[in-house]
Amino acid sequence: MDFESWWLILFPLLFGLGWVAARFDFRQMLSETRALPDSYFKGLNFLLNEQPDRAIDAFIEVAKLDPETTELHFALGSLFRRRGEMERAIRVHQSLLSRSDLPVREREHALHEIAQDYLKAGMLDRAELAYKELSHTRYEESSSRALVRIYESEHDWPRAIEAVTRLGKLTGESVAQLVHYHCEMAQARLTQQPTDVLAAKDALDLARQGLDAADDSTHASHARVLMLAAAIAQGEGDGALERQHLRQVMKDAPEYVGLVADELQVNFAATDESSALLRLLLTQYEQYPSLDLFDVVFGLINSQEGGEAAWAFAEQALTQNPSLLGFEHALRVSAKTETSVSLAPIDTALLQKLISRHTQRLERYGCRVCGFQAKAFYWQCPGCHGWETYPPRRLEELQ
Ligand SMILES: [Zn+2]
Repeated sequence: MDFESWWLILFPLLFGLGWVAARFDFRQMLSETRALPDSYFKGLNFLLNEQPDRAIDAFIEVAKLDPETTELHFALGSLFRRRGEMERAIRVHQSLLSRSDLPVREREHALHEIAQDYLKAGMLDRAELAYKELSHTRYEESSSRALVRIYESEHDWPRAIEAVTRLGKLTGESVAQLVHYHCEMAQARLTQQPTDVLAAKDALDLARQGLDAADDSTHASHARVLMLAAAIAQGEGDGALERQHLRQVMKDAPEYVGLVADELQVNFAATDESSALLRLLLTQYEQYPSLDLFDVVFGLINSQEGGEAAWAFAEQALTQNPSLLGFEHALRVSAKTETSVSLAPIDTALLQKLISRHTQRLERYGCRVCGFQAKAFYWQCPGCHGWETYPPRRLEELQ
């Protein structure tokens, strides 16, 4: 009997305790939830529904209510940046940086954010300063990469060389663009007025050293160094040395021979050896057929042996490597020559015009990485800023 009466007291007591505990937890949860303003959840909701504009408005509301929330400021700042509202992004990050109580870690984070804002806004000087301040922080690597990009876009090659060397040491990666930076410097010395051949030679020597040091040097960088050496020799009137370099391009980087075709022709013509060049290029074409080489060979045969021989070559070459561009170029050369060969009942000039309307698109070079197309050949893609992303082939040849 006693046992049962104990239970009668214990049951309601336990029940009551449970109820109190549950009510307490629930209340605490409610109060915590109330501490976060409604706007916060609204903002989150908009963000999840991919409505960044409305999310920003909601978060601004929260930030006003609680200016101490640094994470929210970072979120807002990167939202603004992603939407291209650079002024607002910069203002948010500036307000963070102006706080004297901001811990070092957060400060570096804010500096890294504002550096990205400046870079995206095209304020390169400020971006450079901010990124420089971040050396020896956890953002060192990404800052070094950004600095390399900044100096590249400013064509500040000495600084780019410095920065990329530092990046190479930091990451242990080989930096392929180093050779190109020295080449860019050499090129700049050659094109400036007045030209500074000595400085160009020094820069080229450094490019060669970079080439020797790199264990994965490419045909492209070999070709470029040789082409610059040829240009320097040509500028100094040393035709023999120029020819030596140009022939080295044919040997070391045969796919780049199209880029030196004009120089080869001028060089051999100067010593009245165009027929020797023709023989050389015919052999090269057999091994490495390319459109640019076809053009040169066709033109040389046309001028040396006449239209009929040129077209005989074209017929054979175009059968093996069909090219609408090649055909059109051959027609163009024929139309210009007085002794043009009648191919068909229609005029070659007219035929060439008809085809060229369709071949213009095919004649461009295209970036392997981003697809950026251009009439000129680039060592660095203007679209994605990648180095050596342009194959030395026209679009038609790549299809
Ligand atoms: Zn590209």
